[in-house]
Amino acid sequence: MYPNRFEYFAPTSLQEALSLLSIYQDEAKLLAGGQSLLSLMKLRLANPKYLIDLGHIADLNYIRQNGDKIAIGAMTTYAQIKDSELLRKDCPLLVKTASVVGDVQVRNRGTIGGSLSHADPAADMPAAVLASGAELKAVHLNGERWIKAEEFFVTTFTTALAPNEILTEIRAPTLAGHKTIYLKAAPRPTDFAIVGIAACLRLGPNNRCEGIAMGVTGASDKAYRPQALEKALQGEKLDFYTIREAAARVTEGIEVNENIHASSGFRSHLAQVYTARAIQTAMNS
Ligand SMILES: Cc1cc2nc3c(=O)[nH]c(=O)nc-3n(C[C@H](O)[C@H](O)[C@H](O)COP(=O)(O)OP(=O)(O)OC[C@H]3O[C@@H](n4cnc5c(N)ncnc54)[C@H](O)[C@@H]3O)c2cc1C
Repeated sequence: MYPNRFEYFAPTSLQEALSLLSIYQDEAKLLAGGQSLLSLMKLRLANPKYLIDLGHIADLNYIRQNGDKIAIGAMTTYAQIKDSELLRKDCPLLVKTASVVGDVQVRNRGTIGGSLSHADPAADMPAAVLASGAELKAVHLNGERWIKAEEFFVTTFTTALAPNEILTEIRAPTLAGHKTIYLKAAPRPTDFAIVGIAACLRLGPNNRCEGIAMGVTGASDKAYRPQALEKALQGEKLDFYTIREAAARVTEGIEVNENIHASSGFRSHLAQVYTARAIQTAMNS
């Protein structure tokens, strides 16, 4: 199916893109890798009159060290993240997560900024940025602001970005010395997660948990940090029973999704199993 007619813009600077966005506002859509937006347009579930392509703005695509953080431009693709030596060394959680998103074509075109801004409740990257403790830079014509990953995801397909803002950068702390993993339960390897669990641990002597941050995707209307679970494990010696008991709290206070892939009961169970497995796998990594 063909999308409705639209006018296409290919700005070459962020300023130009922001100006177009401020002129056309709700009638415009930003185009990143197009892996979600173009399907929605072809199905006519999204019908923007104006399409502002971010793909010609060179300074939105980079991965670089910035003090004790790694800065990633919003237009950086999954493939670039997966192949980044810098991220592999200092922020491997993002590399592990990018490696299991969709298939090769999706990873070659899809961008981290597009994924986070789209806020699909089953997308992989939101879980990883939550567990990494990343911050996201939103820019508008008159300035910019930083949004914590925990405050970025509002509900299904809705973020804290204002209509006149563009997500330009993701800044993640270096996680050297942490144990990290992203585990995803999906019908087929290239599918969206029924449940996806990102874990980032700092272990002391005797496997005592000196720090833990987790991100859960697929379970509810948005990716989230399971705070009750993190609290239960903080300072504890991590053994099979402690982990299993804490993992039971992964969906505490959450309304768990139900759809053709999984009932809410099965999804909750899967979230618990994958949480325990993620923590154990990270510990042994
Ligand atoms: C076959 C297939 C399989 C897939 N499998 C998976 C999977 O397993 N896991 C997974 O997580 N995802 C999967 N996806 C989705 C994929 O990850 C998309 O790449 C991602 O959802 C959107 O990124 P994009 O760069 O393509 O953004 P686009 O589709 O171009 O844009 C998505 C939305 O974000 C907005 N947007 C884009 N960039 C910005 C920005 N910088 N600032 C503000 N708003 C912006 C757009 O306006 C649009 O509304 C799959 C997609 C396909 C087609």
